[in-house]
Amino acid sequence: MDSLRILIVDDEAGIRDTMHEFIGMSGYEALSAATAEEALEQLQQKDADVVITDISLPGMDGLELTDRIKKNFEADVIVITGYSADYSYEEAISKGASDFLFKPVRFAELLLRLKRVIKERQLTQERVKMLEQLQTLATTDGLTKLFNSRHFYNQLAREVDRSNRYNPPLSLLLLDIDHFKNYNDSFGHLEGDKVLMRLAKIIKSCLRKLDTAYRYGGEEFTIILPETSGAEAETVAHRIKAAVEKEGFHPEADNPQTVTVSIGVTQYHPGEELAAFIKRADLAMYQSKQAGRNRVTPLFD
Ligand code: GH3
Ligand code: MG
Ligand code: MG
Repeated sequence: MDSLRILIVDDEAGIRDTMHEFIGMSGYEALSAATAEEALEQLQQKDADVVITDISLPGMDGLELTDRIKKNFEADVIVITGYSADYSYEEAISKGASDFLFKPVRFAELLLRLKRVIKERQLTQERVKMLEQLQTLATTDGLTKLFNSRHFYNQLAREVDRSNRYNPPLSLLLLDIDHFKNYNDSFGHLEGDKVLMRLAKIIKSCLRKLDTAYRYGGEEFTIILPETSGAEAETVAHRIKAAVEKEGFHPEADNPQTVTVSIGVTQYHPGEELAAFIKRADLAMYQSKQAGRNRVTPLFD
């Protein structure tokens, strides 16, 4: 792990240099600045993990500096003040400081507090990472790594809400693999799973920036296309259909296979229920099946 970077801010050169040396000797990478302005400039160039700042500084004071750091950077702040100063512990903490020390600073105490702040910082970072991982797990389909159906309903509800509020068009594709049971029966479930994984990749490669793909059910996929008219969504559907059609699968040696999909396309009607919207996409997909499969059916009314 890289050593942690500590920025010391003090206008008194003597104190600044001694702290710099002490922090450096304690195993951290030490940086220093004589003013708050200089400290912010340094942070722009090199993110620090912890900033230790004197409260009274010429120009911008340490409280204002703490405020700016908490708003614009990731660093934790420890503030240092003289006993006679007009600043309070409460003020510093309310600006977001992690700890508060009085001058003259005893280095052993500074180091203890610095270590505690770093420890808390690491715990917070781990917690954030764990929450992100949990969030990903809860919204992802394990086999295809697309989003799962729970996330589909949540996201579609959000997009429907947005469409009703701000009026952008919103479209939905529902896609079902043709005769997939046959494929499974002929080559086994594991080979079927490989098709699902490859299809997920193909679908993703056909999407634009705002589009999101979901594994809706066993061999059914949905794609939400925000800010997209039905006609544009139809183009995306044709792109997916063509890409799937030309992909070769090799469940057995010397017996290449192709797979096709039936797609339903629909556009959201302002004010309608989520279920009615999904049902229309489903109906459009079903019409693709009825008409012979491997096709795209738009159903806008
Ligand atoms: P159609 O063209 O009418 O959609 O025919 P189909 O055979 O695809 O439709 P049907 O609904 O009869 O069968 C869907 C099949 O999809 C049944 C099942 O074997 C397969 N399937 C569903 N989920 C999975 C899965 O997770 N893995 C695999 N390998 N197969 C799955
Ligand atoms: Mg199906
Ligand atoms: Mg099917």
